[in-house]
Amino acid sequence: MICNNIGINAKGHLTFAGQDTTELAAQYGTPLYLIDENKIREKMSTYVKAMKENFGENALPLYASKALCFKKIYKIANEEHMGVDAVSPGEIYTALQAGFPMEKVYFHGNNKTDADIEFAIENRIGYFICDNLDELDAIDEIAGKHGIKQKIIFRLTPGIDPHTHVKISTGKVDSKFGIAIETGQAEEAIKIALGKKNIELCGYHCHIGSQTFDIKPFVDGAEIMLKFIAHIKEVLGYEAHILNLGGGMGVKYVESDPEIDYAANIKGIADMMKKRSAELGINMPLVLMEPGRSIVADAGMTLYTVGGTKEIPGYKNYVSIDGGMTDNPRYTLYEAAYTIKLANKADKAPEKEYTVGGRCCESGDLIQEHVMLPTAKKGDILAVMTTGAYNYSMASNYNRIPRPPVVMLKDGESYVAVRRESYADLMLNDL
Ligand SMILES: *Cc1c(COP(=O)(O)O)cnc(C)c1O
Repeated sequence: MICNNIGINAKGHLTFAGQDTTELAAQYGTPLYLIDENKIREKMSTYVKAMKENFGENALPLYASKALCFKKIYKIANEEHMGVDAVSPGEIYTALQAGFPMEKVYFHGNNKTDADIEFAIENRIGYFICDNLDELDAIDEIAGKHGIKQKIIFRLTPGIDPHTHVKISTGKVDSKFGIAIETGQAEEAIKIALGKKNIELCGYHCHIGSQTFDIKPFVDGAEIMLKFIAHIKEVLGYEAHILNLGGGMGVKYVESDPEIDYAANIKGIADMMKKRSAELGINMPLVLMEPGRSIVADAGMTLYTVGGTKEIPGYKNYVSIDGGMTDNPRYTLYEAAYTIKLANKADKAPEKEYTVGGRCCESGDLIQEHVMLPTAKKGDILAVMTTGAYNYSMASNYNRIPRPPVVMLKDGESYVAVRRESYADLMLNDL
C-alpha cells in the first residue's frame, strides 16, 4: 500500500486509519472525504521536531492551509505548535474562528487588495509575505493609518526550476509570484522597503514549486537565498534574519513515486545552510518552511459509489462515479496521478483497465485513466487514495453539485468536521 494508514481487513474490504471504508460509506454516504487526524498530527510533529533539531528552537513550520482548509485543521495546527500560511482573508477568517494565534499567521498572495490588507492589519496578522512593490506601498500606508509597524518578508524568485509540472512550478524568474533576484529588482525592492516608515523588513521567502521529490532544488534554492542575504548585507548593510523556504516536498501518490524522508531532507538542507552561512560570513537565519501537501495529502481518501460501467468494444471501459471534478479537479487541471481501488473488492485481483469518469457535464471530468481494477459493478465503492491535499480545498459547486462532507477518523472513531452541503446551502446567496 502507498501509505501505512491503508489496509485490507478480513472481509476483504479496504481500511483507512484502521476503519472499514465500506462501513464509513454506508454510514455517511458518498461522495465522502475521509481525513486521518492522527496522520496529520504525525506529519506536523515530524516537521516541528526535525526543524527544531536541525535549525534551532525558533525554527517554525507553517502549515500551508490552502492545501486543506476548515476550522478543525487550524485547531490541530495550533495544538501541534505549527504556524500557518494563509493566502486570503477567507483563510485568515477561518483561522480566527478557530482561535488560531494571529501572530503565527503569514499572509501570502500576489494580489492582496487594499481591503485584504486592511483586514489582515486590523486583525494584527503576524507577517505579510509581500509579493511586489504595489503591495509594499499599500501595507506601508494602511499600517501607518493603524499606527503600527508591519512585519514583512519579501517573496523572491531564486531562479530555480524544480522540474515539476509547469502549473505548480513557481521559483523561476518568469513567475507571477515574487520579485526576481537575477534582474536586480529584488535588491531595488529591499532598498525601498528599508526606507518605509511603517514597514519592518524581516527577511526573504522563496517557494520553488510543488510535488518535488528531489532535495536538490531545495538545497540550491536555499543556497541562492543565503548568497543573496550575504550580498545585501555587503551592499546595503542589511542582514535578513528570517529565511522562509516555502513548501513543496512531494508525496507518494502511486507505487512508482519514491518514498520521501522529510526529516532527512530537512537535515540535508540545514547541513548545507550551516556550512554556507559560516563561509559567507552571515548568521544562520531563522528558518521557516511551508509544507502543505506533505502534511495532509496521505491523510486523505475519497469514497464514491459506482453508478455504472460502460464498455466500448475496441475503445475503452468507463466506470462512472457519484462525484468528479467538483470534489477533485486535479486530473482535469494537470493530469494528477492517483491510486484507485474498489473498497468492497480490495482483496480481488485487477482484471480490467478503466477510465474513471465523474458525473459532471464536461468530457474532461475524469478522475484518472488507465486504472486496473477488478470488474466494477453499480453499487461498488470506489476509493481514491491520497486526496487530503488540494481536493476539498479546490472543490466547487459546478453543475450545482453539493460538496461532500469531511469526516475525520481518529483512534477508531469518526466525526464530521465539515457537513455535507445541502441543496438549500447551494441557494444561500440566490436572491
Ligand atoms: C502552495 C504553496 C505552499 C505549499 O506547497 P505544498 O506543495 O503543498 O507543500 C507553500 N508556500 C507557498 C507560497 C505556496 O504557494
